[in-house]
Amino acid sequence: MSNVIHIVAYRDVTIESCPFCNKDTGNISGGNGQLYFIVCTNCQARGSSDPTAEGAVNLWNKALQQSQAKVNNLEQTIRELVSKLTPAAPEVASI
Ligand SMILES: [Zn+2]
Repeated sequence: MSNVIHIVAYRDVTIESCPFCNKDTGNISGGNGQLYFIVCTNCQARGSSDPTAEGAVNLWNKALQQSQAKVNNLEQTIRELVSKLTPAAPEVASI
C-alpha cells in the first residue's frame, strides 16, 4: 500500500500492541481525504476509522484495553467456576 505511514512519523502518540496478535506492528493508514485507521502488519487486523490519525490510534488503543478487560473478566469467571468444582478440603479432626 502506498499510503501507509510508519508509526515513527507520529512521535506524540503511542500505538499499543495489536489486540489480536500482541505484536508492536501497527501502522497508520489513510489521509489524503480518507479516514485514518491502524493496520497490524503481522496479522492484518484493522482498527476503527477516524478523521484524524490521533483518533484512529486512540480507537486502536481502546480496543486493546477492552480486549484485556474481557480477558480479565473471563479469568475471574474461570476462577469462580473452578472454586465451585473443587471439593472442599476435608475437615481436620481435632484431637
Ligand atoms: Zn496483529
